[in-house]
Amino acid sequence: MNRDPLVPLVASPLRHYINGGWETGATTGVSLNPSDLDDPVGEYVRADVRQTDMAIEAAHAAFREWSLGSAQRRADALDAIGSEMLARRDELGRLLAREVGKTLPDALTEATRAGQIFKLCAAEAMRAFTEPVASARAGVEIDVTREPLGVVGIIAPWSAPLAVAAAKIGAALAHGNCVVFKPAESTPACAAALASIISRAGLPAGVFNLVMGSGRQVGARIAAHPLTAAISFTGSAETGTRVLQAAVARQVRVQLEMGGKNPFVVLADADLEGAVEAALSGAYGATGQRSTAAARLIVEGAVFEPFVDALQAKLARLSIDHALKHGTDMGPVANAAQLERNLDYVRIGQQEGAQLLRGGRQLERATRGYFFEPALFIGEPEHRVAREEIFGPIAVVLRADDYDHALHLANDTAYGLCAGICTRSLNRARHFRRHVHSGLVTINLPTTAVEHHAPGGGRKASAYGATDSAFWSAVKTAYVAG
Ligand code: NAD
Repeated sequence: MNRDPLVPLVASPLRHYINGGWETGATTGVSLNPSDLDDPVGEYVRADVRQTDMAIEAAHAAFREWSLGSAQRRADALDAIGSEMLARRDELGRLLAREVGKTLPDALTEATRAGQIFKLCAAEAMRAFTEPVASARAGVEIDVTREPLGVVGIIAPWSAPLAVAAAKIGAALAHGNCVVFKPAESTPACAAALASIISRAGLPAGVFNLVMGSGRQVGARIAAHPLTAAISFTGSAETGTRVLQAAVARQVRVQLEMGGKNPFVVLADADLEGAVEAALSGAYGATGQRSTAAARLIVEGAVFEPFVDALQAKLARLSIDHALKHGTDMGPVANAAQLERNLDYVRIGQQEGAQLLRGGRQLERATRGYFFEPALFIGEPEHRVAREEIFGPIAVVLRADDYDHALHLANDTAYGLCAGICTRSLNRARHFRRHVHSGLVTINLPTTAVEHHAPGGGRKASAYGATDSAFWSAVKTAYVAG
């Protein structure tokens, strides 16, 4: 493992990593710093279909040796990646804060988590086992084993570029697969930093490949290529549908982890201060750009006004500024398209009659960036701002008559990623946990308070396919007579 801080994590232009070498691309783009558009992160290269094919073919060629190699070799490589990430978490955290606009503490947390995920995957690599099944016949043994899939295409979003990539790349490699990784277009530096660390972990050429570029060209080609044996996608439901169609057309394994419009219920018996704090962090933390963000706050009538007043007061105290500035509570919106989307939805909310209590404007700061004042609406369940995923610091409060009404509102959504409730009633908490239609549920915690070593879950438009470790390998049942 190379811990030498003199080895730069990234050098401009940021290049693809294909078949064990750094490659230039067909065209170039620039990765911007959303806190300061005059301080770009770096130039990066963009692949075309031909170069995407080269990466997939390299991964395919490397698969046999890698998949038949020892579990210890995989574990050692993953452990080395995790160790270097943890040793360089400050560099990674600063890079992430610059490229995505997460505050430095948030970015350091993600960088640390990403390193820990690789360590966890290293342990996972050693855990493959054979499961015996009793045979109905004397003298016959039945063993169930799991085998690697082949080339796994990994398509990632910009919102958690280190943690999402770590979880998918780590799991794919731990189970003996080869990887072609396509990050979001706006996070090439985080991807190149990760690839740089992976390149020093002793993997055979072709086992891990990074290809940067557009979703329409690179992402679509990965999903459609005949040698891609499985696709792991994280991103919006709209793009997920396209990826699913490509996978179904070839009948290959696919995993989609998509968006949410997550409900957070506050009952009249809740610890109100704790509930407001959990709503603030769940709805607005990381500039609201988390799939688990609680964008629908469903509050029982008796505490509606005090809840709304307390949340507004907390929002008024947030410092929204450069992600690397000490004391910043909320960094900028990550990119121009997302800023435009936030402003559009503020207009839509007002046009539909939702009451904008505060925020919703672009802000000016000392540096030129995508700063946005977090918005709070009071709305009705049918408003688009209460139904569609915005993926920004915009929350809508809905009034609930009682617990049953709150549960009904919580489930009245096309999505099913996560849901939270604040209550002191054990009965209500247990009922909600059982009857809310989501893959993740939190009780007296923000909806975002989830951990990466537990399965992700997700239902309805939020997920498709296995989202646990079963995705990364295929079952083989052997019948053996002596
Ligand atoms: P997106 O859907 O726009 O893009 C995701 C990825 O798909 C990018 O790499 C993009 O380049 C690629 N892509 C675009 N078009 C493609 C195509 N036709 N074929 C193949 N790939 C294509 O999403 P985004 O804006 O990057 O990320 C935000 C979304 O991600 C939100 O909806 C958020 O909820 C979701 N998300 C979900 C989770 C989760 O765990 N469920 C985690 C993080 C983010």
